[in-house]
Amino acid sequence: MNPSTELGTEVLLPRSKEEGDDFVADFATMSGFGATEAGGVERQAATAADAQTRRWLAQWLRERGFRVKRDRIGNLFGLLELIPGAPYVLVGSHLDSQPRGGRYDGAYGVLAAAHAVDRIRRHYQSNGVSPSVNLAVVNWFNEEGSRFKPSMMGSAVYTGKLDLETALNTTDASGTTVREALSVIGELGEEDVFGTSLAPAAYVEIHIEQGKILDKQGVDIGLVTSTWAANKYEISVHGAQAHTGSTEMADRQDALYGAALAVAAVRELADRYDDRLHTSCGQLTVYPNSPVVVAREVQMHLDLRSPDDSILAEADEILRRQFAKIEVKANVQIEKRHAHTWAANFYQKEGVELARAAVNDLGLSNVEIRTRAGHDSTNMKEIVPSIMLFIPSVDGISHSELEYTHDHDLCNGVDLTAEILLRLTHGHLAEQRAQ
Ligand SMILES: [Zn+2]
Repeated sequence: MNPSTELGTEVLLPRSKEEGDDFVADFATMSGFGATEAGGVERQAATAADAQTRRWLAQWLRERGFRVKRDRIGNLFGLLELIPGAPYVLVGSHLDSQPRGGRYDGAYGVLAAAHAVDRIRRHYQSNGVSPSVNLAVVNWFNEEGSRFKPSMMGSAVYTGKLDLETALNTTDASGTTVREALSVIGELGEEDVFGTSLAPAAYVEIHIEQGKILDKQGVDIGLVTSTWAANKYEISVHGAQAHTGSTEMADRQDALYGAALAVAAVRELADRYDDRLHTSCGQLTVYPNSPVVVAREVQMHLDLRSPDDSILAEADEILRRQFAKIEVKANVQIEKRHAHTWAANFYQKEGVELARAAVNDLGLSNVEIRTRAGHDSTNMKEIVPSIMLFIPSVDGISHSELEYTHDHDLCNGVDLTAEILLRLTHGHLAEQRAQ
């Protein structure tokens, strides 16, 4: 088969056996950084393991002729200039992980992007057709938000949703700032990279599904049409420190008891909405957390998500009333702050259609999906047409060392990413945008 054809008649770059093997081998190498015994990885943002992975990727990119740059919030870019002065299509995801996280979440999307862009590079080297845009692989800093909150930090700063200084001054639990952590690992850049001189034209991201729709239905690819809305709250429950034995029960202001009631209320709230509301308390810190002391304060992080903004608004109101009751029952004060919020919204239709056509041409099955998890594309689609793709994840397991995706699905995803990028370098989305 002739690799690729002229604009309009598509079907691309059939994957060679070596390309598939190379990808699987590179992914195995990358999964060794911060590897945990149970088969996952632990590389929270700007830790030594994150730094190792980033350096390995930078080296991989340089060896293939990419220009590697870091911006002022530690986003890492591998620029492939195909046509001087033209805007860039960005493609990537994130290399950082949750504590004891999975190998695939984020990291797969970055490596798939690198391999796909490299395939395009080789294609244009051996083909006279000239592209209309350049390509850049991106690793967004701190997507997970486990060490530094909020999540999706690098893409939020990049898209102007989060102030750079605020992000750099954010501290982790030990008081280390983002600025310090990035400096220590040598990943704090001194320029914007994109913005003034280099303009982004579109964004593509591929990720494991983090749900089981594809795995259950035996479908190859998820075409993401929209995001679920999210409300993340920081809660402080204030009580009074006391002796667990000598203090009379009636006199207690037990912050942990209040927090426990709040955790239960948040969980039960979800039961009202038949899986259209997902809720959890993912983090709980007790002060002073001592065996014979009634807790004086508990800090919690609550996470509520729904495909429907109005459900979140209603849930917010119900929680307000529930918390008022808990304050009386447990004799505590509950302080609720919004930490991070995003509305349900849609990916650009023309991007979904471009992806659908590419999926069909590759002979892959597909289904439309709404993403429940946030992704960097959630931010990027606010500024440029963005395409978000999912590959199957066995049993939908995610944020866990047990996360698993089959090699053939990994390779399908790289093929699709390359195919979509080829169409973008032909100017497809740009043409549709101009119409
Ligand atoms: Zn992710």
